[in-house]
Amino acid sequence: MKQQKECAYCGYVCKKEDMYLIGDEYYCLDCVGICDNCGSIELYGDLTIVNYGRDDQRYVCSDCLNTDSFFQCRSCDEYYTSNSYWGSYLGSPICEHCSENYEVCEQCDNVFPAGELEYCSRTDEYLCIDCIRDADCSIENIVNEYSYKPSPVFFGDSNVNCFLGIELEVDNEGDTYNPDRVYEAAEYLNDNYGDKLYLKRDSSLSRGFEIVSHPCTPEYH
Ligand SMILES: [Zn+2]
Ligand SMILES: [Zn+2]
Ligand SMILES: [Zn+2]
Ligand SMILES: [Zn+2]
Repeated sequence: MKQQKECAYCGYVCKKEDMYLIGDEYYCLDCVGICDNCGSIELYGDLTIVNYGRDDQRYVCSDCLNTDSFFQCRSCDEYYTSNSYWGSYLGSPICEHCSENYEVCEQCDNVFPAGELEYCSRTDEYLCIDCIRDADCSIENIVNEYSYKPSPVFFGDSNVNCFLGIELEVDNEGDTYNPDRVYEAAEYLNDNYGDKLYLKRDSSLSRGFEIVSHPCTPEYH
């Protein structure tokens, strides 16, 4: 009579010769699988599905899973073979499929979550916060703090010492608010009239800036 054994996992009794021995326990065929990478026999629970739902879906043991051949996507949590690796964010990998949730800074090539990059009109690129700062296209580089007060430069000739400076507050409120337009306006004024006027923040303006001219004669204005 053939020797019968009980599966150590599910309790099913079957012929010993049809069972797998792992360690010193016998398991039935339904409870074990083979690592498609190294061929070792493992309990199904110890195998991980890699490339789930694809033609090249496979079961991989935990030893193989911890090698460079496989990775777990930080976005969908699925495991993939390294040929589906797209990039990494904060040191953890992203699969090709999830790459649509991320964007690459056009200057430093680092990966950021979609929507985090900002358009830089100076370089015509989408950049991360650090590169925006380096590219000098942050509005903070053009619009000064409220306390900014450069020494006055006088424009025009006046024999009665009549010089005037103006302060003009501009704001871009409500639905039409567009940070790129505010930046463009600030950049235009700064590039073309930077010697005659300067821009600064004003607490009464949430999204605009104040244009302040250096003192000029009324004629010069
Ligand atoms: Zn079993
Ligand atoms: Zn393996
Ligand atoms: Zn993914
Ligand atoms: Zn960058």
